[in-house]
This record gives sequence, C-alpha cells and structure tokens, in this order.
Amino acid sequence: MAKPRILIVEDEAPLVTLLRYNLEKQGFQVDEASNGTDALAKISHDPPDLVLLDWMLPTLSGIEVCRHIRRRPSIRNLPVIMLTARAEDQDAVRGLETGADDYITKPFSPEALIARIRALLRRSGIAKAKTKLVFHDLELDPATHRVMRNGRLLNLGPTEFRLLEFFLRHPERVFSREDVLAAVWGRDIHVEPRTVDVHIRRLRKAVNGPNEMDLIRTVRAAGYALDPKVA
Ligand code: CA
Repeated sequence: MAKPRILIVEDEAPLVTLLRYNLEKQGFQVDEASNGTDALAKISHDPPDLVLLDWMLPTLSGIEVCRHIRRRPSIRNLPVIMLTARAEDQDAVRGLETGADDYITKPFSPEALIARIRALLRRSGIAKAKTKLVFHDLELDPATHRVMRNGRLLNLGPTEFRLLEFFLRHPERVFSREDVLAAVWGRDIHVEPRTVDVHIRRLRKAVNGPNEMDLIRTVRAAGYALDPKVA
C-alpha cells in the first residue's frame, strides 16, 4: 500500500517541522507549501491525498485556496482540513461552508490532528474506493471482490479482476495496451503488451454469457475500452 500523501500548507516554519515529524512517524508522506499560490501550484501539478490548510497565509488565504480547489473539477473532491487560531474560530465555521471538510483550532496536539486526518481519509478516499462499480448489467464490488453480471456471479482470476476494475473506473475510454499495462501491472514490471490481449480474452470469456452482448470493445490499432458499441 502506498503511504497517504499529506500536503501541509502553513507559513509558520516551527509548526511545519513539528507536523512533518509527527506525520512521518505515523507513516504519512509529507509535502509542504508556505503560501497559497505555491500550494495551488503543487495541488494542480500532483494532487495529494489530503491537504492541511492554514487559515492565515501569505499571497492567497486558506479560504481562497479552498475555494479554488472546490471550483476545479479534477481536484474538487480533495479532502481539506483547515488549521485556525482561536480568534478565527467563527470564520472557521464559514470555512466549512466554503468547502473545508473539517477544521482544528490551534494549539492542537499532533495526536488529535492525526485522528482527524485518519477519520477524513476513511470517509473520503477509502469510502470512494469501496463504492460498487456498475456498468450496464455488470456490477463489481471492490469491498467483497464479487463480480455479477445480470444477477449471475462471475468467476474471475486476480488479473482479470483488476483489469475489469480498471475499465469500470474509466468506462467508455479507450486505453492502449501500454496504458493498461501501466495501470494494472505497474510501470516497473516488464510485461509484453500482448499479455494484455491474453487477459482481455480471458476476461471476455468470464464476463460474456452465451447470449450476452460483448461489453469490451477492441479498437483497432488503439487498444481496448469498456463499451458495448460495435467497433
Ligand atoms: Ca499562518
């Protein structure tokens, strides 16, 4: 499992050092930004799993950064915890209205903050990953690893399961064999692109019943897509 990545957006260097130390000790990967503009640049370039966002920041305030995040479709669901000083508490409530998921008032203990982070990651990221994936009469449950088509339980090998999960998360998009390899097998493993063809064949066999529509489309010279339209 990859470590959850937390972006700390805070201009008080001693607090950043303290947070980084405690978060890394708890197995998180930490990145930092000391002002709002830098934070937004980092978030757009490579979104973290969660943002710890200070309220009072140079350049763009925490609230403005949060608004930007919520306005952009690609990062709209990014979990955000706002850090506030006691005097800003009233404003923090407003912060929640503009889109922060939670807030914590300074001074706080690292333990309290880590508990909030874990709770929020559970609610957002992991909850999302566990949602049932449905396409036409096909249904995959990531929590139980069960795949059903038209009410019938399918028997898939582990690679076919991961392949199908990948296609279900991006329905109707065409992926080259290289895209599929990188996403399902990982970039570091060397596998021949035609291996993908073999597993697609097995997946088709497992998913398509005798009189059922083929849900996997072969796009000549391009790759594959989960799409019942005839190529
Ligand atoms: Ca500050």
